[in-house]
Formats: sequence, C-alpha cells, structure tokens
Amino acid sequence: MEILAHIPLELNPTSVHSKLKSHDRGAVEGLITRALSLAQARAVFVPAYVEAREEDAVVIEGRRFKSRVLRKNLDDVGRVFPAVVTLGGRFDEAVEGTRDMLEKYYLDAIGNLALAEARAHLIAHLCQRFAIDKLSWMSPGSLADWPLEEQPPLFELLSGVEAAIDVRLTDSLLMLPRKSVSGILFPAESTFFSCRLCPRDRCDNRKARYDEAAAREYGILT
Ligand code: SF4
Repeated sequence: MEILAHIPLELNPTSVHSKLKSHDRGAVEGLITRALSLAQARAVFVPAYVEAREEDAVVIEGRRFKSRVLRKNLDDVGRVFPAVVTLGGRFDEAVEGTRDMLEKYYLDAIGNLALAEARAHLIAHLCQRFAIDKLSWMSPGSLADWPLEEQPPLFELLSGVEAAIDVRLTDSLLMLPRKSVSGILFPAESTFFSCRLCPRDRCDNRKARYDEAAAREYGILT
C-alpha cells in the first residue's frame, strides 16, 4: 500500500462562493482559509488485479465485490486502484465544535469541496505515475447496487489504512474521520458518474443527470 501523506489543497474562492450561493463573500473566504488550515489531506492506494468476473460480481485479489455496475465498469479492465482519501480528524472536530449553524453548514460544504480536490489530486498522481489517460471512481454506498456492506472487503485490500492515515470503519460501516472517501479507481475512456445511475430527486452534489437508459444498460433497472 502506498501513502500520499501531504496532499496540497487549493480552493478557488469564486467557485466556492457560487457553489455555496452565499451572500457574504468575506465570511466564505474566511471559512475557506480556516478549512484549509485545518485539513490534513492524505490518501492511500494499492494497485490490485481483477481475478474473476461473475454475472453480478467481480473478484479482486481474492475479495468478491457484488455489484452489477462495478462488474460492467471492469469488463475490460485488469488493474484497479482501491483507495481511501481523508481530510483528517482535525477538520471533523472543527465542524462538530462550530455552534453557528450556518457557519457549520458552510464549513461542512467547503470540506466536501476540499475532499473532492484531494481525490482529484490522487487521480492525477495515479494517471501520471502509471501512464493512464483517465481514471474513474466508484464508492461503496453510492448506489443501491453497491451498498455500504461492501466497505469491509475494500478495507481488507487496504490493510494498514488506519495506521497509515487514521481512517477506520465504524460498526455501521461509515468512515471516521467523516470527511473521508473510499472507492475503487479504474481506467475508463469516458468519466463514470454514479449520479447517472442514481434516481434521487434532490441532491446538491449531483454531478450528472439521471439516465434511465443507462441504468437499464447496467442491468439495475428492469
Ligand atoms: S445524485 Fe447525489 S446521492 Fe446520487 S450518486 Fe450523485 S451525489 Fe450520490
């Protein structure tokens, strides 16, 4: 397993401001500065190989992952990169300790943007290091087809993650620190977005329109 121990973070105040739809630019800029000083962005990853494909599952390094979508995404893929990215515990503590509800909401939302930035850094690092054009990402829990119950085998592939970057799974299979994301990276010609297959009505984080035809193609809608 490899560790990226110091991921640099930079957030563009204009784009953060427009995403948060805030009327107080000065306050948001102050919160960005605070968030970036609190975040300790780190990541772990490991190159791993697809060993078997079943109708609705895939076996990676001896661990079976049951998901039609992951299975289809890995149709022509041999090597993948299980990974975890985190902003660290200090960020969580700051959000939890913030009394003002609006400030808490903004800080949390800025944390999501910072985590996305850290994940983008990991993707860029892997593309350069392994000479890959494009990598896509899937997380357990992002779709009903690949639920949170699939977190433990993913963490088994990243044995030592807690010692390396202080991320652990709770009994309810959520990650601590909360501002962490886990998943499997895989080469793909066009970027895969779980949102395309997710019918949820209202979601502030949607990155692509729901596509019913694609959901049928992936075999998760009959
Ligand atoms: S639409 Fe929202 S809930 Fe659905 S996959 Fe995208 S980010 Fe997740």
